[in-house]
Amino acid sequence: MPVEVNFLSLLTGCFATPVAENPTVAMVEAAYRAMGLDARYINCDVAPADLGDAVRGARAMGWRGFNCSLPHKVAVIDFIDELAPSAEIIGAVNCVINEDGRLIGENTDGKGFLASLKTVSDPKGKHVVVLGAGGASRAIAVETALAGAASITVVNRDEARGRAVVQLVAAHTPAAAEFVSWKGDYVVPEDVDILINATSIGLFPGVGDVPAVDFTTVRPGLVVADVIPNPPHTAFLRMAETHGALTLDGLGMLVNQGVIGIRLWTGREPDAKVMRGALEAVFGA
Ligand code: NDP
Repeated sequence: MPVEVNFLSLLTGCFATPVAENPTVAMVEAAYRAMGLDARYINCDVAPADLGDAVRGARAMGWRGFNCSLPHKVAVIDFIDELAPSAEIIGAVNCVINEDGRLIGENTDGKGFLASLKTVSDPKGKHVVVLGAGGASRAIAVETALAGAASITVVNRDEARGRAVVQLVAAHTPAAAEFVSWKGDYVVPEDVDILINATSIGLFPGVGDVPAVDFTTVRPGLVVADVIPNPPHTAFLRMAETHGALTLDGLGMLVNQGVIGIRLWTGREPDAKVMRGALEAVFGA
């Protein structure tokens, strides 16, 4: 049977699992099987020096698109034709769509987070705190602000990185934006509605690590979200739950960025439950 649609993935082993158990591959291929789609999603390790050749290869072979992860999310912009609006603001691309030979760069990380967040809380008018100021934080801060959050507070150790995210939000969205230097345990102000761990703290193998937060200030009903997909039920979420918070795990973000990617590549709607099930099987959740 010929393969009708090919997807190139430029993942680089960021989840510390063997390629055969790569969670994104398992998730996307499970979705294709359930959709009856004659397509593959494969994992390729691409060295930074070879990125241009890899993208030219994807274009030459007529692949419908690809995801890319660190360290390619910014560098890939030099090799594609156009940026979707929020990818342009964020300055990073994790999903590329081949539209009649033109490669369009999207950022589905923040959109995936937003879709997951909206299952428990609409950020419109809300006060949001984002811990961390890396790529995940940038994408989440921008998309949450574009979705109507009243304010975004970025809490980070490195001041320059934290202020850069604040500046991005202030310059491109209507939300108020503030930087807080992360020293000691972060005290969650009373008016905060949503607290997000967008750092890498808690990612396997550091499963016992917890972001420095004063958990006595985590009140019942506060929405506490984590970007960490592995393990999904992080120590941070468990601590927040003991204080009555409403929690949201990082699998929701991963599933929803995958849903958005498949929708963009195929114009069809995948089954998010099938995708989450495939991820849970890989992570043993
Ligand atoms: P980056 O390396 O770009 O940023 C990491 C951030 O975490 C930095 O701001 C860093 O602070 C902060 N940080 C790391 N360790 C500590 C610590 N001990 N104390 C305080 N701050 C700390 O990573 P990304 O933003 O790309 O990714 C972050 C996490 O998000 C990863 O674990 C990744 O797996 C996850 N992710 C999940 C997705 C999903 O779909 N669920 C999608 C994308 C990412 P500083 O600037 O001060 O160094």
